[in-house]
Amino acid sequence: MITRNPYIANLKAGYLFPEIAKRRREFAAAHPDAKIISLGVGNTTEPILPHTNEGLTEGARKLGTIEGYSGYQDEGLPELREKISSVFYGGKFGIDEVFISDGAKCDIGRLQILFGSAAKIAVQDPSYPVYVDGSVLAGAAGGWEGNAAGSGGYKGITYLPCTADNNFFPNPDLIPRGSLIYFCSPNNPTGAVADRTQLTALVNAAIEKSCIIVFDAAYSEFIRDPNLPKTIYEIDKAETCAIEVNSFSKPAGFTGVRLGWSIVPKAIKYSTGESVNADWSRIAGTIFNGASNIAQAGGLAALDSDGLKEVRKLTDFYLGNAKLIRDALEKLGIKCIGGDNSPYIWAHFPGRDSWEVFSQILEKCHVVTTPGAGFGPAGQSFVRFSAFGHRPDVEEACKRLEKL
Ligand code: PLP
Repeated sequence: MITRNPYIANLKAGYLFPEIAKRRREFAAAHPDAKIISLGVGNTTEPILPHTNEGLTEGARKLGTIEGYSGYQDEGLPELREKISSVFYGGKFGIDEVFISDGAKCDIGRLQILFGSAAKIAVQDPSYPVYVDGSVLAGAAGGWEGNAAGSGGYKGITYLPCTADNNFFPNPDLIPRGSLIYFCSPNNPTGAVADRTQLTALVNAAIEKSCIIVFDAAYSEFIRDPNLPKTIYEIDKAETCAIEVNSFSKPAGFTGVRLGWSIVPKAIKYSTGESVNADWSRIAGTIFNGASNIAQAGGLAALDSDGLKEVRKLTDFYLGNAKLIRDALEKLGIKCIGGDNSPYIWAHFPGRDSWEVFSQILEKCHVVTTPGAGFGPAGQSFVRFSAFGHRPDVEEACKRLEKL
């Protein structure tokens, strides 16, 4: 018999969202009349807007013609790579530094191949689960020390607490030398957005300690404050130490279409001097055969002038939901962050267990949230509200929150 990869056994039982789904199912079975509303997951709910959708449709149509047909495009369609560089980075990156993916999560998982099991990992705590779970699967972390409900942490991971006391920005002094740092802004789950001074401190720490940052900018299109950086490359020298991953999922409604990108600048080197970009290019051609050409045609449409108007409209809609949720919580005296430049609201219930708060909101309001402890030890006593939902559901959920 073939033995199981021992790293899989290191994952704690039950990924956060299946656990939430299980608790929701159990509640629904016990209360068949309850009309449960989910403000729990970060899945998009609104249709893809017409111009972008036309791009997808046209992409599919072209594949049925001799002149429009295209096959494998390992690193992505050149015109999309060029468009991404010009729209998001002012043309700073050559197309050989822009890699099209089937989504940010998939690329985050694959990126670990670059660094292997010896990598030291530092993550914001709380954080989006794939940074930690991907590290565990790559063997760069040990087993789970804590309970299956989410309290505790993995051996070997450096958790960088992001709490109200440090304005949800970690202390760079805690970052170990030579580590791979996962950093997400606007942050999932806290909704916090790092400002220029904070990101400069992060980049300087990474350079000084010979680290590489994986900067997850999946929510950058939700930033409305013009003073907040939308990409890490707005910070001087970031191209020497940071890989940026991004996605069409939330701004264009592509969660089910699957399209994202990673910027892997040529200036980033391993401690031994080899090019990270060259290795990533090799990996893209070796174990990933590229994103769907139909999705890429949709992505191109999303980035032309009409498409960018649709991105703005869609993100404005979810930010409208976020404002309703945050206002409803603050009316009850619950302290929150996020929701202004991000689709997540991080609500504080001091001194309480976050799964207990989750259960109370489900039982009293029939609203599903996400318990903060599921995102890491510092998430304890917080609950995340997601602004991804239909407006009438969000309005109804906000009314029900008054029962808290
Ligand atoms: N990064 C963050 C921070 C996310 O919250 C999510 C999805 O919720 C993703 C990445 C996943 O993006 P994609 O759909 O492109 O895989």
